[in-house]
Amino acid sequence: MSFVDTINRQKSAVLFEEAKKYFPGGVNSPVRAFKSVSGPPLFIKKGDKCKIVDEDNNEYIDFCCSWGPLILGHNNEKVRDFVIETIGKGTSFGTPNLLGNELGKIMIEHNRFIEKIRFVSSGTEAVMSAIRLARGYTGKDKVIKFEGCYHGHVDSLLVKAGSGLATFGVSTSAGIPASFAKETIVLPLNDLNILEDTLKQYHNELACVIIEPIPANNGLLLQDREYLVQMSALCTKYDVLLIFDEVISGFRVGFEGAAGYYDIKPDLVTYGKIIGGGMPVGAYGGRADIMGHIAPDGAVYQAGTLSANPVAMAAGLATLKQLLEPRFYTEMSSKTKVFTSTIETYCREKGYTLHIPTVGSIFWLAFTQKKIQSADEIDASSMEYFKILHHELLQRGIYLGPSGYEVGFVSAAHTSKDLEVASNIIKECLDLVFD
Ligand SMILES: *Cc1c(COP(=O)(O)O)cnc(C)c1O
Repeated sequence: MSFVDTINRQKSAVLFEEAKKYFPGGVNSPVRAFKSVSGPPLFIKKGDKCKIVDEDNNEYIDFCCSWGPLILGHNNEKVRDFVIETIGKGTSFGTPNLLGNELGKIMIEHNRFIEKIRFVSSGTEAVMSAIRLARGYTGKDKVIKFEGCYHGHVDSLLVKAGSGLATFGVSTSAGIPASFAKETIVLPLNDLNILEDTLKQYHNELACVIIEPIPANNGLLLQDREYLVQMSALCTKYDVLLIFDEVISGFRVGFEGAAGYYDIKPDLVTYGKIIGGGMPVGAYGGRADIMGHIAPDGAVYQAGTLSANPVAMAAGLATLKQLLEPRFYTEMSSKTKVFTSTIETYCREKGYTLHIPTVGSIFWLAFTQKKIQSADEIDASSMEYFKILHHELLQRGIYLGPSGYEVGFVSAAHTSKDLEVASNIIKECLDLVFD
């Protein structure tokens, strides 16, 4: 497909060519390369509220929001001011610090599912550490994960199902020993029978089941609450830990994340993205007796030079405090619902094959009429529609993550007016997609 660019992306194009000299594929994280959409990636130079500006001075309403962290939008005044104040006192000491205590306290006091936590520096690190802890605590090695859930680039989780049901995983990346992938069993989402059969057969070897309770990295594959309730019960029955990977859903669908949203208590929870308010922070937490197995209290080793870095803690703290304001989450989800349902209604009237699964302030453009709950139900050819839409939206000042498998995020900084402008542009572009 070739497009005639009407907006000017000249500077981004030049910078991307230069970046290719320095970085593999010109990027420092693969999906940024715009491989599944058209044109060079945008080099963004600044953002304010719901808008970002590229090096060519084009302005966009942003629904990527740095892939989820920016629930308050760009350049939030309180976050910025507190980060600047904190940085003025030095950037890192490698000692305990007051801001770490405060962020830990606010999380634990307002979250029924966390008794103790440990801060790390990314979502991947949080998941990797939680898996190690589950193994150290249970003395067992195997892990169940689900097709369509992403847990960062942890070796044993970059794995897909082998052939046949409930066979051991096959890695999806070069560089992962087959022996690591073998410790992971990959199951389809939304299928309790397979889960129960697998737990029955392997529970003596299984340390944990890890799931994104709101799977939001491969489309938005909303699960039924009952499925998650039964999963939790089965894990208890078979003495296998349940880990909720809430790197996206944590602080997004409510202050207590998906655990609170569905009212299900996992044994361990991982966080990232929002918890750092745009700075590199991750965390894992959960039952105090399990967390007691981490060094220096216990035998599971995990450490970090920049863990609980004060500047990053400041950004997280200034963010989370704002999320505790009354009605914060109800307002986020009601304006998101208005936004997505307006577009859905339009598509229904026009007979366009698009629906928009939505939860809280997360949405996904699914180019199908079917309700999709597992990865294999996504039709890869429908991504061609997204590619056209993405391009047309960029021309008109709307920025979505550059892949049809990515979800979109609404932030507190998106006003109803911004969302109305955006939905009108999206409708106009859908006319072109489906003309
Ligand atoms: C983003 C994400 C990760 C990885 O976090 P990074 O900070 O990118 O390492 C892990 N799990 C889930 C559910 C995520 O969305």
